[in-house]
Amino acid sequence: MGIYKHTRIALYIRDNFSCVYCDLTDKSAKNLTLDHVKARKNGGSNSYKNLATCCRHCNTTKKDLSLNGWFVVLQQRFINAERIQEIKKKLEKNSKMLPCQMRALRNQAKGIQPWCKLDKGHSLQQQRG
Ligand SMILES: [Zn+2]
Repeated sequence: MGIYKHTRIALYIRDNFSCVYCDLTDKSAKNLTLDHVKARKNGGSNSYKNLATCCRHCNTTKKDLSLNGWFVVLQQRFINAERIQEIKKKLEKNSKMLPCQMRALRNQAKGIQPWCKLDKGHSLQQQRG
């Protein structure tokens, strides 16, 4: 099952169009993807509770790593322990988001769509919703 367009945009809005891991911000969303915090391969779902805005670079690097494995990689890069704690808190908060909050974000996404220009080839363009 794919991720619906408005769900995708709603989650980008929730995360301020920024990668939750490295903070890269891209309002055009062309460098953004949705990461399955718990990889699908490891039983992670497509629920918004398991999805986080993630830049292409981080998503490509993270692949099917467990969250703890990924944090090790991040620490090997440039991200300090304090920042890792912030990321954990953010993911924890996201996992507790209520359906009504998600609905509100989806409605916002429907309004935001006209000026949210996405590049040709972005996965959004191939999906209905
Ligand atoms: Zn990133």
